[in-house]
Amino acid sequence: MVNLSKELENAKTIGISGHIRPDGDCIGSVMGLFLYIKNSKPDATVRAFLEEPADIFDCIKEVEEIENAENVDEEFDIFFCLDCDKTRLGAAEHLFDAAKTTINIDHHVSNPGCGDYNYIVPKASSTCELIFDLLDKKYIDKDIAMALYIGIIHDTGVMQYSNTSPKTLRIVADLVEYGFDFPRLIDETFYEKSLLQTQISAKVMADCKLFLNGKVAFGKVDYETMQSMGLKSYDLDGIVNQLRLIKGVEASVFMYGLENGDNKVSLRSRSYVDVAKICQNFKGGGHVRAAGCTVSMDAESALKEILKLIEEQI
Ligand code: AMP
Ligand code: MN
Ligand code: MN
Repeated sequence: MVNLSKELENAKTIGISGHIRPDGDCIGSVMGLFLYIKNSKPDATVRAFLEEPADIFDCIKEVEEIENAENVDEEFDIFFCLDCDKTRLGAAEHLFDAAKTTINIDHHVSNPGCGDYNYIVPKASSTCELIFDLLDKKYIDKDIAMALYIGIIHDTGVMQYSNTSPKTLRIVADLVEYGFDFPRLIDETFYEKSLLQTQISAKVMADCKLFLNGKVAFGKVDYETMQSMGLKSYDLDGIVNQLRLIKGVEASVFMYGLENGDNKVSLRSRSYVDVAKICQNFKGGGHVRAAGCTVSMDAESALKEILKLIEEQI
């Protein structure tokens, strides 16, 4: 475990970043730690670097302070890599490399740890859960609690996926004590979808196909459709989970096309297929029940290879 108070003690400049295409856990953990350092070390300079978060995260305090790392050139005393290893930091990777001390906090089973200090706990529900563990509770306020709560609900599917542990629920209990409006947060950041998101999801469901005796569901969105409907990657969040919920399905595969012809792949499973293992074949990773990768293949060839790997586990 990292002793956060000790590491932060002499730091004057602190940078924090997380993975490309940031999700709720990534944004929640980056912003939770950012707000905490502001509270606990008012004399230090702290900066947060991520790709632009989706609008649903506007409710997080100071989320507008998040910067693009591209043209930033600074040697931070401490740099945090949250919810990923450094190869997925995108534009912030050079800041991690240049920092005097680096700290990696993550829960991906595929991450061996890339910092001077590492706190990698694959059985944790989320990076937000790990951040909560490390914080000196006297500096936590309602805004920090809310940011961490958002991360936990996103990575656990509102405390439902199998990564949810009794410890997760105890932390959630501590967080809701701060008194934010959690039913509204769950609706507005997790379940609510725009009309466009609802329409693309309906289209994928209408065209989805089953393989391996109905145990695998597959859906996709090609790059032309991404362009013509004006879709961003976060508009597709949740589709892979919906595919997984088709009766009889053990694993779901969802892909969308990228500008360079590659495909971004998401995999989910219900109870026994290890999808992190499958994604590691394509230099991706994640968790046993939820993982992802990017493949330099057309969707059809990628599906063929993935089905072969799933079949080995069925
Ligand atoms: P996704 O399907 O992209 O939402 O990813 C599911 C889970 O796998 C998330 O926890 C991601 O952070 C993780 N993941 C996705 N892509 C990768 C990758 N290339 N390497 C490591 N983890 C990944
Ligand atoms: Mn994440
Ligand atoms: Mn996470």
